[in-house]
Order: sequence, then C-alpha cells, then structure tokens
Amino acid sequence: MKPSIVWFRDDLRVADNPALRAAVDDGSAVALYVLDEESPGIRPHGGAARWWLHHSLTALGEDLAALGIPLLLRRGDAASVLRKTTTALGAGALYWNRRYGAAERTVDAGIKSWAGEAGLHVASFQASLLHEPWEVTTKTGGQYKVFTPFWRTVSAQDFREPLAVPEKGHGFTGALPAHDQLESWHLVPSKPDWSGGLAESWTPGSAAGHKVLASFVAGGLSNYSEGRNRPDTEGSSRLSPYLRWGELSPFEVWHALGSKRSESAGIFASELGWREFCWHQYFHNPNLATANLRPEFDRFPWAWPGSAGSNGQHPGHETAPEELRAWQMGNTGFPMVDAGQRQLWHSGWMHNRVRMVAASFLVKNLGIHWQLGEQWFWDTLVDADPASNPANWQWVAGSGADASPFFRIFNPEAQRVKFDPQGKYIAHWIPEFGTPDYPEEIVDLKTTRAEALEAYKGMREVH
Ligand code: FAD
Repeated sequence: MKPSIVWFRDDLRVADNPALRAAVDDGSAVALYVLDEESPGIRPHGGAARWWLHHSLTALGEDLAALGIPLLLRRGDAASVLRKTTTALGAGALYWNRRYGAAERTVDAGIKSWAGEAGLHVASFQASLLHEPWEVTTKTGGQYKVFTPFWRTVSAQDFREPLAVPEKGHGFTGALPAHDQLESWHLVPSKPDWSGGLAESWTPGSAAGHKVLASFVAGGLSNYSEGRNRPDTEGSSRLSPYLRWGELSPFEVWHALGSKRSESAGIFASELGWREFCWHQYFHNPNLATANLRPEFDRFPWAWPGSAGSNGQHPGHETAPEELRAWQMGNTGFPMVDAGQRQLWHSGWMHNRVRMVAASFLVKNLGIHWQLGEQWFWDTLVDADPASNPANWQWVAGSGADASPFFRIFNPEAQRVKFDPQGKYIAHWIPEFGTPDYPEEIVDLKTTRAEALEAYKGMREVH
C-alpha cells in the first residue's frame, strides 16, 4: 500500500485536522513538516516564534507517534523537499490544510501542479480560518474593508463541527527517508539562552491549548466583556499562540463557546472575527507588513522611517536609535508602556489593551514608523502572526482598514489609571517603579501629541 503524506504547516494538531484525517483514511500516513527559509517571500520566523515552534513540533511528534504516524522534519525549499520525500516514500497522495499568504500560496500551487502531473492524488482543506477569503466578498464582489459588515456576513455561516482525533490506523512500517533532527534546526536559543521567561509563561502544544481553552470557557469567559480590558487580571483567554500555530483550530474554539451565548461570549466570538478580518486583509494585501493600506500615509513625516521594512532588516536592540531602544526595552518612563514592553520581552506576549497603548506611543508620541514596531513585535511575540500583527499595527497607526483614526491618541497615563487602578500590573513588571531607579519620561506627552496632530494635518493637506 502506498503511504499518503500529510504536510503540516500552521496546523500543528491532530484534532480537527482534515488533512490528517484524509491521510489516515487512505491507510498508512506519514507526516512531514518543512522549515522553509528559502522560498521567496516567506517571512522568516522571529526569535520567540522559533522557540514556540520547537516545542510545538515536539508535542506534535508525540501526538502523531501515539497514532503510529512518524513525523519527518526537513529543512529547505518546500517544493524540492516535497518532491524528494514523495519520491523516496513512493507516496500515492499528498494532503495539506490551506494557508493564505501570497508567497505560501504560490509555493502550494507549484507543488499541486507538479504532484498532479506526477500522478499523485492531491487535496487541500479549510482548517485555519472560519472563512475562505475569496468566498466572502462584498455585494460588488470586492474585499471587505470594514469589520462590522464583514463579521456579520462571516458569522452568519454555520461553521462545521470540529473533527475528532483519527483512530490509530495501520501505521507506517516502511523505511523512512533521510530527515533532520529537530535540535539541528537550533530553534531554541543557546549562548545566551534567553528563553527562560517564555518557558515559565507557556506550555506550547495542542494538549496545553485544549486545557487553556477549557479553563477559559469554564472561568474567564463569563466576565470577558470587562476582564478583557484589564491587564492586571487574567481576563482574556491567552489562546493567541495556540491559534497562531494551529494547535487549536478556530472551529474548536467557536464550538467550545456553545450555541446559547452570553454577551461576553458574543464579544469573545467577535475577537475571533478580528483574527479572520486580519487574514482577509492579508489575503487581499500581501504587502500588509510593508505598505500602508491608506497610501496618503506614505507622506507622513516619521522621525525614524520604516523604509528598512522592505528588505526585512530592522534595528535590533543594540543598534536601534535611542528612543526606539527605550521603547523596546521598556525604559520610556511611561509605566503602562514599559510594563507592556517588559511583559513582552520576558514572556513573549503582551495584553491587548497594552499592545494598543504601547503601539500608539511609539507611532504617535515618538513619531516612529509603525513598521519598526511591527518588526519588533514580530521578533518577540510567541503569537507573531503574519496577518494579525501588521493589520493591528496599521489599525493603531491609522493607515489600515477600518482603523482607529490617527487623531485618537492613547494617553498612557489615563489608560494606566483606568485599566490598572490598583497598580498591580505596573508593580509586577516594574519593581523599581516609584524609586529613583525608574527612568525619567523620555518625551513630553502634550507636546508630542500636538506635533503628531500637526504632522497628520500636514499629510492630509498635501494633494
Ligand atoms: P483574547 O482577547 O482572549 O481574544 C481571543 C482570540 O481572538 C485571540 O487569541 C486572537 O486569536 C483573536 N484576537 C483578539 N483580538 C484580536 C485582534 N485585535 N486582531 C486579531 N486577532 C485578535 N494577535 C495575534 O494573534 N498575533 C499578533 O501578532 C498580534 N499582534 C498585535 C499587534 C498590535 C499592535 C495589537 C494592538 C494587537 C495585536 N494582536 C495580535 C491582537 C491581540 O492583541 C492578541 O490577539 C491578543 O492580545 C491575544 O491575547 P488573548 O488570546 O488573550 O486574546
């Protein structure tokens, strides 16, 4: 019997995995993951993401082993790895779950046409998004640019029930072709090993994701409408990295909310909608991380421009200009910003409310291009997502779809008083707050706010 290959990508799970299900249904399945840093246009993972990926692949390998399915790891350009592996295994079929970035889709289309010509059975499935971006269009057939009508249309659909983990099948008993050892990819840092805070904060893998989901549904969900804004509590789900890596599917999360929904559950569901909306934008705008969706923002006079974004180079924290570096390291003198940035640096995650405050501060008070913030988040977030990260940065900067207007400038002090009223969040991340060791404010909020509004006005007046 010819084995079938299931090619894992951003779907590192055995439950609700239609590609895996199809391969197991065929008889004997072999799993493959390719670390592709060579195909043009695919954005290389940042440091925190690489750490997560290492542990996620370890967990996936164990889950697959329990089903009698080996996981092959290969590094290289996906097209040639797929060709070689398929030939070496004498595989008869190839399955994957779809991905939505332009570069990734080009790679997949090339492999699909090669495999078809080679006589393989090839099939792809919807698994990572609740909607297919090309199927959901406005009345005039275009992309949605406003969230509310987009989500009204998408959420009116009946989303399929999640698939169960496949039964243990025949297992693959043939000889495996050459493959890599995970350690040889050096995804986890050493010399120095800066990942202690990540390990302390997270357990990657599908089993852990399911636990986080179950405990959120049983606990935090009922108070989500209030709790989600409070960085001093565990008021949001912390599911983002599990969704990012596909350790949980959006179908599993959606159905876990049940059919009778409280107001809080409805709000939470619409946050899943924002994830869909970000991917909708990315599908239609492959340059989301490097080009303003509103072109008039190309004229904005940034103090430190984002042109570096186009070649993927960005100032690391050793070389960044002083103010950017103070922001990255959480030394701006504004505790809400600094606590967030320190939370990010330590744990690979930042609370959404604080992401908005920190991003607004960088873009509007420091006048630094949103792309530089986006690149920093890309490198430091465990949930760094090629759609949600740039889409949210453009949302904060005002240059994106259905964005927050530029003139709405978060005041980090007012946000602190409102959302961390007892100062618990600040005290946790900035132990020296209130002592002479805490940095002075690096800018004046009022002056920089006025300058930002002036620059915005100037941008709009030029024709
Ligand atoms: P919850 O509030 O529990 O929300 C549940 C899920 O909904 C999240 O896990 C996430 O998958 C999705 N979600 C919630 N809010 C958003 C949103 N605004 N946009 C897209 N999806 C959302 N989210 C990422 O997953 N990856 C990123 O790289 C990312 N970068 C961001 C950058 C900036 C500047 C900002 C302001 C937000 C960014 N977000 C990103 C969105 C949001 O901050 C995180 O999804 C959220 O903080 C994750 O925590 P949670 O799982 O507890 O969220």
